[in-house]
Amino acid sequence: MQWEPIHKKNGTGPVAPNLGDYDRVRSEFSWVSARAALDGLPGGDGLNIAHEAVDRHAAGPRAGHTAIRWIARSGAVRDISYAELRTLTSRFANALKGLGVAKGERVFALAGRVPELYVAALGTLKAGSVFCPLFSAFGPEPIKSRMTLGSARVLVTTTALYRRKVEPMRAELPELRHVILIDGDGSVPGTLGFAALTADAGDAFAIAPTDPEDMALLHFTSGTTGRPKGAIHVHGAIVAHHATARLALDLHPEDVFWCTADPGWVTGTSYGIIGPLSVGVTLLVDEEEFDAERWYRTLQDQKVTVWYTAPTAIRMMMKLGIEPIRGFDTSSLRFLASVGEPLNPEGVVWGVEAFGLPFHDNWWQTETGGIMIANYAAMDIRPGSMGKPLPGIEAAVVERLDDGGVRVIDEPDREGELALRPGWPSMFRGYLNEEERYAKCFAGGWYLSGDLARRDADGYFWFVGRADDVIKSAGHLIGPFEVESALMEHPAVAEAGVIGKPDPVAMEVVKAFVALKPGFEAGEPLRRELLGHCRKRLGAAVAPREIDFLKDLPRTRSGKIMRRLLKARELGLPEGDTSTLESGT
Ligand code: ATP
Ligand code: MG
Repeated sequence: MQWEPIHKKNGTGPVAPNLGDYDRVRSEFSWVSARAALDGLPGGDGLNIAHEAVDRHAAGPRAGHTAIRWIARSGAVRDISYAELRTLTSRFANALKGLGVAKGERVFALAGRVPELYVAALGTLKAGSVFCPLFSAFGPEPIKSRMTLGSARVLVTTTALYRRKVEPMRAELPELRHVILIDGDGSVPGTLGFAALTADAGDAFAIAPTDPEDMALLHFTSGTTGRPKGAIHVHGAIVAHHATARLALDLHPEDVFWCTADPGWVTGTSYGIIGPLSVGVTLLVDEEEFDAERWYRTLQDQKVTVWYTAPTAIRMMMKLGIEPIRGFDTSSLRFLASVGEPLNPEGVVWGVEAFGLPFHDNWWQTETGGIMIANYAAMDIRPGSMGKPLPGIEAAVVERLDDGGVRVIDEPDREGELALRPGWPSMFRGYLNEEERYAKCFAGGWYLSGDLARRDADGYFWFVGRADDVIKSAGHLIGPFEVESALMEHPAVAEAGVIGKPDPVAMEVVKAFVALKPGFEAGEPLRRELLGHCRKRLGAAVAPREIDFLKDLPRTRSGKIMRRLLKARELGLPEGDTSTLESGT
């Protein structure tokens, strides 16, 4: 099927897009001017994420504006203004100081989306310590390995999580000095209570004079391709968080912004905390996990204007159909965006049907710290494309050469590795304790992303697949995304994951795993129908040879299909690192 471009009528929306004319903004943009849009620390040239996200708003006319609107699992709502957030985070920073936690030391968080998590994150940054979030659903092993690698000094968590996951192995974490329990009162041995600790701390805090190159955040990757890596990010990243929140997510100060990602992974921090607060918006945080009806009600009741979610959630909503949305008024929405996995063209267009707006796909990684390639509010969308590089970002499709260098592929529509020219402010500065792995990411003056893509003649980038997932079949290179998208076009398919299965003749054959929408029956007739659909759509060389039906596909905690696990299971091989696997799949 040929997907029609979605044309944008520039300037006719309720607010003028921050990025009106892509080529013009791109040619005028510089990271120096992007830095100049921020404050910097008072009385010096230091830069601190928390100052830009919180204190500078608290010191000005936005002090009373709601910074965080938190929706508890029960539905109760708590508003925290920028002024209040300044006080809460200052108290936390003072508490850390009182505990003797030094600049650069790591403060880990293991908690659901509760206000204290956000206070701890920003308070840690104020103190000049390093914030490292973990998914609250991680089991003891992944928690221990990450805390050990990151030399955790402090852990902020809840009593239940501590009792279940950390206390039994506390002796194996000798560097961990303080455990702060969000709901604790100090009665659990070896812990401190969050409320008492921060109540005793002062309201005012002079932010640590951090240099833009000082380490601020430690983020573990999603573990989709193997053992997660600890990516180091610095305070200077705020320049990119702020610029991309404005340009790629089109955030304006009066927006009510909802990023559905958990702060346990990078989207939930870069855009679930830092970027939007630096713009001065109201950040919506829902403690509850995905629930379609609750989400539609939240969009309606909170009058969300900009919504940032992920393909896995979009596919879950698509699975349930349009009908459940009809009872809700989502007309406050102005801009929808998606990240984390390739967004099938089907999903982009479904946004129009469901919410009257397309989903804008954008691409980035834990390593890039912020959005690198995006579909913009005022730029036509080509469904299935990731869009164009951010102003300030030079992206290319390259080929690795035998001599260790790379060649930029200038011809359009050719597949190669997606590469970025290093130097943007939120670029990772290393994989913690893995220098060799870090060095391997660079060649010939480029950062090599490990993803394959192609660029069309008009400069739009198209995701092909991860380098590890690409299928070599009978002389063809096949990207799993293309095959998955073709399957998604069939009305019965809710989700698809595609792998290469070793074959003595073709080297590999394409094998698809499919989860069905409600009301469709797995079986031979449907299998044959899907095979026929793909052959017609993709041609016999690219279409899957085999299709298996699964109830659900294995996914990482951040919602990505784990193709390597599908492959390992298919071949009866060891499953490798499954520390980020969502349970139950
Ligand atoms: P690991 O590196 O541990 O295997 P991961 O790569 O999934 O895990 P993240 O940094 O969370 O960890 O994810 C970044 C990756 O997600 C990208 O490299 C890309 O493969 C995929 N991705 C993110 N956004 C998009 C998108 N819009 N389109 C296609 N792929 C995307
Ligand atoms: Mg990765």
